[in-house]
Amino acid sequence: KRMWEILDKITKGKGTLEDLDKLEELAYHIKANSLCGLGQTAPNPVLSTLRCFRDEYIAHVVDKKCPAGVCKDLLSFEIEKDKCIGCGMCAKQCPASAITRTDYIAPGKKLAAMEIDKNKCVKCGACIATCKFKAIIKK
Ligand code: SF4
Ligand code: SF4
Repeated sequence: KRMWEILDKITKGKGTLEDLDKLEELAYHIKANSLCGLGQTAPNPVLSTLRCFRDEYIAHVVDKKCPAGVCKDLLSFEIEKDKCIGCGMCAKQCPASAITRTDYIAPGKKLAAMEIDKNKCVKCGACIATCKFKAIIKK
């Protein structure tokens, strides 16, 4: 439970470098002191990801970024206005009514581009899946 709490904190961008040390220490103690096989093996995913993907943990706690684009709290969705043709398909799919039209018409396009209101966006990803023009990025 304590390991889960630390991991949850990290995915929300609230983790610190000290949390990584605490997580690793806890994992080794749990592995060494558990009486059954479940406890002895449960920390393994954390230990192997800390070993093989430590740079991703550091990106979460230092830069507050999720390089894999998975942790919702660390993501933001944006429309690249020069790529947007203004078809409006993304806005139709958005469950939060977070996408509205701007005044900007990209060179060579007929309709004004759209934009995402980050305060309304619930980061569901439906807009990215809808846009055929790869005009929406998550970062
Ligand atoms: S679906 Fe893509 S091209 Fe169409 S309005 Fe949305 S961002 Fe622009
Ligand atoms: S990620 Fe979801 S909520 Fe956010 S703008 Fe796209 S469709 Fe709307």
